[in-house]
Amino acid sequence: MNNTLYIVIPCYNEEKGLRETIRRLFQKIRNLIDCGEITDKSRILFVDDCSKDSTWEIICQANRDNKLITGIKLSHNRGQQIAIYAGLMEANKYADFVITMDADLQDDIEVMHRFIEEYKNGMDVVYGVRSIRDKDSFIKRSTAQCYYKIINRLGIEIIYNHAEYRLMSKRVLNALANYHESHLFLRGIIPDIGFNSSIIEYPRNERFAGATKYTPKKMINLALDGITSFTDAPLKIALVIGLIFVIVGIIALIVDLFVHFQHLWTIFSLFLILGGINIFFVGVMGIYIGRILDEARQRPRYFVDQNLNNI
Ligand code: UDP
Ligand code: MG
Repeated sequence: MNNTLYIVIPCYNEEKGLRETIRRLFQKIRNLIDCGEITDKSRILFVDDCSKDSTWEIICQANRDNKLITGIKLSHNRGQQIAIYAGLMEANKYADFVITMDADLQDDIEVMHRFIEEYKNGMDVVYGVRSIRDKDSFIKRSTAQCYYKIINRLGIEIIYNHAEYRLMSKRVLNALANYHESHLFLRGIIPDIGFNSSIIEYPRNERFAGATKYTPKKMINLALDGITSFTDAPLKIALVIGLIFVIVGIIALIVDLFVHFQHLWTIFSLFLILGGINIFFVGVMGIYIGRILDEARQRPRYFVDQNLNNI
């Protein structure tokens, strides 16, 4: 079994904590190579998602200092999902398996050897799952839990409390290369690909430095991508609610023929509710249509501006 590992890390404006991430990950990969767990062709691959700060310069410097550290820079900010995907496609040229993680040291790198153990036991995917989320803010924790509940109700298979800390084998990377959608939701796609998988639990730390790079807008878009790329249930819900209102409307009309219904305020409220529901579901349809348009355009998802990995 060939054991070349690439650790893929998306970075956007991470200059504050990146040196420490590099230092710790370098120690880890050195240790894994020295123990014979992985080959010396293994690399830490940073994907700079077109940061505005000195993130890329830090990656270049680390690469000059040590060839175990490498990187690619995207030509424009594309968001975490596309940045990870770009890194995975680069890694797939050289690696037998990859581990993805964020740049902020929230994921515990000490459990990495357990990921590798699972891989050597035949697992194609190993999901890192947060055993406790007490370091996340109350709002983040409760919105995440609410989202998991909604997404499960809609029948989408995702791993509870798992984000982007995961190991994937070459088989999975090859399968992933066939996913051409521009609205990527890796947390849904990887379980969708299938193959053998297992879970490793770890306590999630606080961000080492800097603030979250996920603006509320990016967060909402990711949440919507998770739903729209895996189910059309919201459209069907619109259909069912529409039907229910038609039936209730007909019944109300029949009742009205017998009892004079003259409460203006009730009529006004009903009018608002029905109008609101209508507009809401037109909006839901709009979101799907927008995404269909994005996919129909088939634009390239990213361009690699600079590549330290192939020089
Ligand atoms: N990230 C990225 N592009 C973006 C936003 C974020 O590559 O447009 C990276 C970021 O640098 C980090 C990871 O995605 O490595 C997760 O972001 P963050 O830690 O800010 O998210 P949170 O943990 O707060 O959800
Ligand atoms: Mg984070």
